[in-house]
Amino acid sequence: MQEVKIYDTTLRDGTQAEDFSVSVEDKVRIALKLDDLGLHYIEGGWPGSNPRDVGFFREIQNYHLKSALIAAFGATCHPTKTPATDPNLKAVVAAKTPVATIFGKSWTVHVHDALRTTLDRNLNLIRDSLAYLRPQVETLFYDAEHFFDGFKDNAEYALMTLQKAVEGGAECLILCDTNGGNLPRTIQEVISAVKERLPTIPFGIHLHNDSDLAVANSLLAVEMGAIQVQGTINGIGERCGNADLVSIIANLCLKMGVPCLAPENLVKLRTVSRFVLELANIPSNKYQPFVGRSAFAHKGGVHISAVEKNPLTYEHVDPTLVGNRRRVLVSDLSGRSTIKLKARDYGLPLSKKDPVAMQVLEELKDLENQGFQFEAAEASFELLVNRAIGKGKRYFELVGFRVIDQKLSEERAPVAEATIQVKVGGHVEHTAALGNGPVNALDNALRKALEKFYPELKEMELSDYKVRVLPGREGTAARVRVLIESRDENDHWGTVGVSEDILEASWQALVDSINYKMYKAEKHNNT
Ligand SMILES: [Zn+2]
Repeated sequence: MQEVKIYDTTLRDGTQAEDFSVSVEDKVRIALKLDDLGLHYIEGGWPGSNPRDVGFFREIQNYHLKSALIAAFGATCHPTKTPATDPNLKAVVAAKTPVATIFGKSWTVHVHDALRTTLDRNLNLIRDSLAYLRPQVETLFYDAEHFFDGFKDNAEYALMTLQKAVEGGAECLILCDTNGGNLPRTIQEVISAVKERLPTIPFGIHLHNDSDLAVANSLLAVEMGAIQVQGTINGIGERCGNADLVSIIANLCLKMGVPCLAPENLVKLRTVSRFVLELANIPSNKYQPFVGRSAFAHKGGVHISAVEKNPLTYEHVDPTLVGNRRRVLVSDLSGRSTIKLKARDYGLPLSKKDPVAMQVLEELKDLENQGFQFEAAEASFELLVNRAIGKGKRYFELVGFRVIDQKLSEERAPVAEATIQVKVGGHVEHTAALGNGPVNALDNALRKALEKFYPELKEMELSDYKVRVLPGREGTAARVRVLIESRDENDHWGTVGVSEDILEASWQALVDSINYKMYKAEKHNNT
């Protein structure tokens, strides 16, 4: 199949998403990451509408990109202006990018109500705006906004707008489903009509995900001959988002055999996906296809033993191809083969007949009865197995702690203070710290006490804290389960604690989290 060029608009369309905002520095870092991934085009912003984007275009000129061409986005000329006097088009030229992408109106409703001009004038605006830019940029694309809705409303007019874009010098016509509401059948019919009218003109696709079809419809467009696919990393975008380039790239490469990314770059997909979320401070979706934490996580015992025999049984692709990995979830649903697989996952020497595996299984069942749950607390599980095989290590010993939560008046927020004594080697360390809650104060005090001995603890932080009240059995007090998620630069790990006392449960999870970080650092130093 013909090569497809990937056009990323995370930095322009993506920034329209709720809760997604990035600084100029972030935008530059994302652009460099996308270039390293090997994408063909990176749309940096709309210089005519946003001063921050002007800053990006200036800054990115200082970098030499390996594969990607930077694109500036803009609208057709304002109806009351000429292209040469239109500030928005001037800003596109001033961005000095090798690519300019201009969008125009395809839908008569938009021409009348949004642009407030006549249908004829809109046609001229499209042709003249592109013709003005043509000699000033190397590559010129035309985004036909609302093309599919426009076609349904007035097919002849929508096709005429494309004709005008070609006359103006557009090299590729990108058909947009801006409202994201069209079904595959419509996409197919409309593309067929465009191909019939303009058989020799290359076309691309730009879809929004309001019907949850953006990825599927993009792949359909490629099957019908689209040579360019526009979208965003993780599908970030206004409302329900844009077409997710992560899934599109994985499907094109792994399922459809369409060249769009150098094979050695596909493995970077997961890292790039996480990188964009981290910079924008958006929590990752563990169920995201291909790159999510759960995308290759197996829980049912039957599934687990089948996957162990042949991964094809429950995996549509090899997770390592996109930089992900298989995970075996531990729960009392599953038996000894899970423990064995899980142990192998962590490089721990356990075989199925191993008495240690039996011991771990017994302990696991007992803990799960108490309310522990290890599916999201793999680090606690790994420490448990380590203890069972006699490799558990204590990095510190608690002498005691005290936590005070003080509220001095109705208006004032409470203040929490923790004091703690720990023993490391022969030394006893005694510290105190404040926090915006008792658990936070305890965490702060514990780290303050330990960082002196283990400076690597500065690299980690708690990224999530969850408390669940467990249903109490008759005659017993209710217990709480605390799940803590921690992270450092390279890794995320979960730990768990259960008790009738919320601070005690938190303490257990905190201690596991710190022990795991130390264990990880030691393992790393030994290899
Ligand atoms: Zn869009």
